Amino acid sequence: MTQAQLIDGKAIALELRKKVGEETHALHKQHGIKPGLAVVLVGEDPASSVYVRNKGIATKKAGMASFTHQLPADTSEQDLLQLVSQLNQDTSVHGILVQLPLPEQINSDKVLQAIDPDKDVDGFHPINAGRLMTGQPGHVPCTPKGCVVLAKSALKDLAGLEAVVVGRSNIVGKPVAQLLLNENCTVTIAHSRTKDLASVVRRADLLIAAVGLPQFIRGDWIKPGACIIDVGINRIDLEDGKTKLVGDVAFEEALAVAGSITPVPGGVGPMTIAMLLSNTLDAARRLIS
Ligand code: NDP
Repeated sequence: MTQAQLIDGKAIALELRKKVGEETHALHKQHGIKPGLAVVLVGEDPASSVYVRNKGIATKKAGMASFTHQLPADTSEQDLLQLVSQLNQDTSVHGILVQLPLPEQINSDKVLQAIDPDKDVDGFHPINAGRLMTGQPGHVPCTPKGCVVLAKSALKDLAGLEAVVVGRSNIVGKPVAQLLLNENCTVTIAHSRTKDLASVVRRADLLIAAVGLPQFIRGDWIKPGACIIDVGINRIDLEDGKTKLVGDVAFEEALAVAGSITPVPGGVGPMTIAMLLSNTLDAARRLIS
């Protein structure tokens, strides 16, 4: 039996980061602009702390300036809004990212909307969501953008394909569906109220799984030859007491049916940081255009 081609997100992301690094260097040399990314972390959530540290390392490796703001878990909404306002005005900061989730005393929507849309390198501001929806230039959320790059690496032209996106969150499902529509796919968005999900998924030439349930999408739901982009990152317990990261797709089952598939880890995950750097570079480049 032939196995699906593995889409190596790690290698593709490394290549992209190298290119961003070269272009960052050129921007600095030719125009004296060093792209700067400010990352704000409130509290000490271990997973968020790891993400923030990795983002800082990647930013510096690309030749950009990295500003990390670590605030205590009991920070007030007012104080966080004040910091965002300072970063909006800081000319050495081109991109601002507020790490989610935020503690419960802080309204995330209010904070995300306070970020200058042109510095909103996460692409979560309603203005950027509207720009994506209406086909205007703006920052596109990093994970969805990475999904499309990975799908194109396997399928080249996406036009005319049946794409099924499982999940409709503002940070993954909805923007990735919009991006696929922009690529001229015929897009279906499925969610927790979708009836007979298996038969909807079976239509997909291109499947994006962004559900957050470990190994939820089974091999026999998949159309033979389909391209599978698995966004899910789920930690499961193993019998020997260890844990393991798995995606939203039952990987071994899918491997036997799909045409191409992203592994977890090493698929979509590494693309997210690469796209964040790319968005930060774009934000800095706006100053010369
Ligand atoms: P959310 O929890 O915000 O959204 C999950 C979506 O899945 C919802 O739209 C929900 O539907 C849908 N869903 C839940 N249960 C079912 C079901 N039984 N059948 C069909 N649909 C269902 O998650 P996110 O979008 O934030 O993240 C999704 C996954 O992607 C997570 O595993 C997350 O860790 C991962 N992720 C990975 C990133 C990366 O860099 N690789 C970045 C961001 C996320 P409904 O709307 O009806 O509730």
